[in-house]
Amino acid sequence: MSDTAHDVTAPGAPRLQEVSDGVFAYLQPDGTWWINNTGFLVGGRGVTSVDACSTERRTRAYLETIRSVTPRPVRTLVNTHHHGDHTFGNYLFEGATIVGHEATRECALGWGRPFDAPFWTEVDWGDVELEPPFLTYTEGVTLWVDDLRCEVRAAGIPAHTTNDSFVWIPERRVLFCGDLLFNGGTPFLMQGSVAGAITVLEEVVAPLGAETIVPGHGPVAGPELIGQVLGYLRFVQDTAAAARAAGLTPLEAARETDLGEYAGLTDPERLVGNLYRALAELDGAEPGARIDPVPALTDMVAFNGGRPLTCRA
Ligand SMILES: [Zn+2]
Repeated sequence: MSDTAHDVTAPGAPRLQEVSDGVFAYLQPDGTWWINNTGFLVGGRGVTSVDACSTERRTRAYLETIRSVTPRPVRTLVNTHHHGDHTFGNYLFEGATIVGHEATRECALGWGRPFDAPFWTEVDWGDVELEPPFLTYTEGVTLWVDDLRCEVRAAGIPAHTTNDSFVWIPERRVLFCGDLLFNGGTPFLMQGSVAGAITVLEEVVAPLGAETIVPGHGPVAGPELIGQVLGYLRFVQDTAAAARAAGLTPLEAARETDLGEYAGLTDPERLVGNLYRALAELDGAEPGARIDPVPALTDMVAFNGGRPLTCRA
């Protein structure tokens, strides 16, 4: 594999954005498969990080960026959910307490080590060692960065995954929402719940009154992002209902669907996985009930012209 393919700047150099005093978003273009956002808060005695990155190289670059801001150590690392783009790099936060929902630990262990083929293009993951959260909660926990209160709260029901959490900083009206929100990318609900995500965004996330939202992927946004993602989720439900009425499979329905205002979102093949989920929910599946990922991912590859999904991590 060429060096270019290993280069964390290949889809665009990661960017640091101070969203509030001492509160930073670390934004990784282009936010597509396995390329996530993280963030960190600088306190007088140490740093608190929200999420790690996917590959060894990306997490090392992130840690270097933290060191460019402060020499203080990362003492606490919070994982917003189990997906590897947010957790594979955990093991590089030497000495940090890794905090997450108890199901985040279970699901990270369940997924195991990184892999790409046959569903994604080749990735240089590095020497990733599994290091899931080892301080876990069920509903939430409050973290303090000096005297700044940071509320780590579980979404409570399946949404993007079965184990989503967010970090809410009420005094600053800043929200690190993990993958409950994507900005510019297609939301992905295959391992969570479309209906649950709508409920969480409407009843848990929107009422917080966040002014600044750091999404799991894509640029920092304001609260209008919540409505945009809700629109896509309802579009998925409507598409699933039409597919059911017409007797179409998720892949057939996705191929026939005009993406309309969502045509510009990256990773459009996620519609197929989202329809697997939405159709299961129409058939009465409980939110977050297990869906075999192999047929869904196989159909996403088929939607993508039979090519593995593009991963530039
Ligand atoms: Zn995710």
